[in-house]
Amino acid sequence: MPFISLRWILLAGYAVAGIIPLLLLASTMLHSVQGYFVEERKKELLSQANVISGQLTSSNFLFHEDHRGDMEEVILETSQREDYRVLVLDSSFTVVYDTGYEDVGKTYLLPEVVQAMDNKDTANEQEDGTVYAAASIMGLSNQRSGVVLIVDGMKEVRDIVGDIGKEAYLLLACIVILLFIIMVVVSKVFTEPVKNLIGIIKEMSEGHFERRARVEQKTHTELVDLAIACNQMADQLEKVESSRQQFVSNVSHELKTPLSSVKVLSESILLMEDVPKEMYVEFLHDINSEVDRMTAIINDLLTLVKLDQKEIPLNFKEVDLNQMMAGIVKRLQPLADAKSVVLETDYVKEIAADVDEMKLSLAISNLADNAIKYTPEGGKVKITLDADHQHAFITVADTGIGIPEDEVNRIFERFYRVDKTRDRETGGTGLGLSITHATIMMHKGSIKVNSKEEEGTTILVRIPLKQQQPAAQAQ
Ligand code: ADP
Repeated sequence: MPFISLRWILLAGYAVAGIIPLLLLASTMLHSVQGYFVEERKKELLSQANVISGQLTSSNFLFHEDHRGDMEEVILETSQREDYRVLVLDSSFTVVYDTGYEDVGKTYLLPEVVQAMDNKDTANEQEDGTVYAAASIMGLSNQRSGVVLIVDGMKEVRDIVGDIGKEAYLLLACIVILLFIIMVVVSKVFTEPVKNLIGIIKEMSEGHFERRARVEQKTHTELVDLAIACNQMADQLEKVESSRQQFVSNVSHELKTPLSSVKVLSESILLMEDVPKEMYVEFLHDINSEVDRMTAIINDLLTLVKLDQKEIPLNFKEVDLNQMMAGIVKRLQPLADAKSVVLETDYVKEIAADVDEMKLSLAISNLADNAIKYTPEGGKVKITLDADHQHAFITVADTGIGIPEDEVNRIFERFYRVDKTRDRETGGTGLGLSITHATIMMHKGSIKVNSKEEEGTTILVRIPLKQQQPAAQAQ
């Protein structure tokens, strides 16, 4: 497709919508002006033909050939003054006098002459623009004895209309040129910001996310909206880019800590001489747990990456949520027992929902696991399952250490931990809640946190009972 700039489209639109109607209007107006002049001239010629015919009648022109000389002079003078030709015809349509002297003796069977003889004086415009005006001459005893025919080439009318036309088209040309200049300026005003935006977007696509479009608030047009939208997109891109960098730096940092431990542990054994076997075992044990930690981090990262790839759909099936929750609680019971935390459940009713059982189980386990982890000995964790006619609600409430108010919104971020040092001791990767959040979002659900430091945390998960696409298709 050839490149057509917006500017040319605007100019072409102006030509079609502005210039062509103006031209049409001018030519129609000229046409009616000409029509008006012709009509007026026809009336005038007819009345002059009548005047001449009256004179001819009273001088008995047709019947007294000897006295024609005076009358002929009068007619000739009039015809020269008025710039038209006058012919006098007798009752047999033969020309008896012609101011042009050419057609004397010829027969004129023109419709206008015939009609005049029939007492209907007429003036008609011919195809070549000439006007014929014919009036009858009365003879003796009121008989029609001949016709006066005026032939006018309408030069005067044509000259007048031509002059008007010239002036009109000159004026039109001035208007067109003026409008064209205005349009060029207007189209520049419209297309210049678009061009600027294109330049800025191109720079952004080359990685300069810090570039912003200028927003001129003087006039509020769609172009200003476009610039604002473009800047919002740039903000978003910058955010995504910085969170990507943050993520990479977090991953490196998280993996660096256990790797450094492994390095220190292995080097210290290598440098020592005569190391007792128990020490080997102890160091290897430590190295092993660091490797476990790295494995846990990498596994969590892989889970997150898989959840991020939205084209891999979840395996939705109708699942008995009561059974699913019982399974989770059974797995976590030993952990709670070991910490002397009471694990309480309240399944309000039987609930079945379209969920990906494996992924949702992991998501809810993360919540319950955290609740036990961050609740001191003797505390209580309560898991509730309830539903209305559209959603299932899973609540995990603990009486643990709680989360500071200003950090509640950040706990779903990758690698975010409230207390960095202590949490690493608890074995968490800081990725659990990110996985939970992503899973709930993929179920088109929502997750809310209520927490108070030293009092406890309640996390409420809401999941739709039915997923939009049928379970079979989602596989
Ligand atoms: P971790 O693996 O460190 O537990 P998570 O993503 O599961 O990572 O949780 C992120 C952070 O949120 C935790 O490090 C902890 O500081 C805080 N947190 C999560 N759940 C609770 C809870 N029930 N009570 C108090 N703090 C919590």
